[in-house]
Amino acid sequence: MNDKLEKCSFCGVTQSLNTPLIAGLDGYICEACVRLANQVVTSWGRKRDLADLHGPLPKPGELKKRLDDYVIGQDLAKEILSVSVYNHYKRLRSESADSPVCMGHNDVELGKSNILLLGPSGSGKTLLASTLARIVGVPFAIADATTLTQAGYVGEDVESILTRLLDVAEGNVGRAEWGIVYIDEIDKLARSSESAMAVRDVSGEGVQQALLKLVEGTNVKVPGKGKRRDGGEDISMDTHNILFIVGGAFAGLEEVVTKRLKPKTSGIGFSAAFSADDEKTDSETFLKEVQPDDLRRFGLIPEFIGRFPVLATLEELDEAALKTILTEPRNALIKQYQKLFAFDEIELEFTDEAIGAIARKAIEHGTGARGLRGVMENLLRKTMFETPSVEGVRHCLVDEKAVQGEGEIKLLYGKPETETESTNSRAVAGA
Ligand code: ADP
Repeated sequence: MNDKLEKCSFCGVTQSLNTPLIAGLDGYICEACVRLANQVVTSWGRKRDLADLHGPLPKPGELKKRLDDYVIGQDLAKEILSVSVYNHYKRLRSESADSPVCMGHNDVELGKSNILLLGPSGSGKTLLASTLARIVGVPFAIADATTLTQAGYVGEDVESILTRLLDVAEGNVGRAEWGIVYIDEIDKLARSSESAMAVRDVSGEGVQQALLKLVEGTNVKVPGKGKRRDGGEDISMDTHNILFIVGGAFAGLEEVVTKRLKPKTSGIGFSAAFSADDEKTDSETFLKEVQPDDLRRFGLIPEFIGRFPVLATLEELDEAALKTILTEPRNALIKQYQKLFAFDEIELEFTDEAIGAIARKAIEHGTGARGLRGVMENLLRKTMFETPSVEGVRHCLVDEKAVQGEGEIKLLYGKPETETESTNSRAVAGA
């Protein structure tokens, strides 16, 4: 061998066929050192990104206040989510070496507390999550558990959630790695595992298993699709700092909890405490009593439950809450329809009793606040169809009778000059 063989200026390895070197002006570098340097430089970028978070932390109280603008009630869930997001920020900060918050606790690593939201359909779980997405400054992705399947089967792999997060973070892996993920309909993973004992359960328990590692924290290879990265190389993502929030209606969970709380009624002695007036104890009360063991009986696997130490229950929305939802949030439905009517220069007015009746109708449908839009559409459909072609209508008044189908929406005409109040000309259907 000749003595012209060069050495890597960083690690000193000698050039060979297996170890080619890249020449610089005054030195050389080997492949291993290039890779190491790449890792170091990437971590600088991450530190820089984290430094961006060094503004004042939004306090839990402030986060909750901002949620209040969009979501009615559900104070407990709002508080829990606000604290979790606040702690999430803190954990991110403690990652950066010069963090002032680590004073005296540099050796303490902050773990994350993933959250499980329990609440009836239409109580605001998705709304809470998506509103949080709007107000927190970290990437946020929403996924639906029912579309996920175990790897290799038709459907989406759990890794697709990370691809989505990466897309939201505009391909910035560092930012995506401390994002927040919301997975909806998580209870559906349990139910199918109950019903399909004999067959391989690739969409129920299989997905729970697949999610375990992701939620706990692992390095996952994510296809770089979506951004159409050249070469389509897999991207490695670390999920340790991603906060996972999962939500579901858990229909039927009350029965599981009730069974645990109430000993068999045919029994003697102890069951005496749970008697007649206890019957009316509603599902909410039971949901507040939910223990991890109830979730296991419901069909979630213990390892999965263990990864969601924070349980938050959302309440079923009552008439008063639905009335507020109709009128108060920034995007309140009544405001939306008023705006639609305003395009035709028609003022849309609802009496207070009418709003109460709309709320009661939605409750009858059993889909919480989600039913409100359907009720409003049915109620206003004919008026929305007819009034644009009727000359001179300038005011519509909706009262309780109109909502109950016992009367008509009253139309007020601006032309001719003398305003005449008349009921809509179409036949009045009976109740
Ligand atoms: P789910 O609990 O089933 O996820 P969603 O959050 O999807 O329910 O609610 C459906 C719709 O109902 C929302 O888009 C929103 O318009 C309305 N809604 C539900 N809960 C609330 C609430 N607490 N405050 C305001 N609007 C709500």
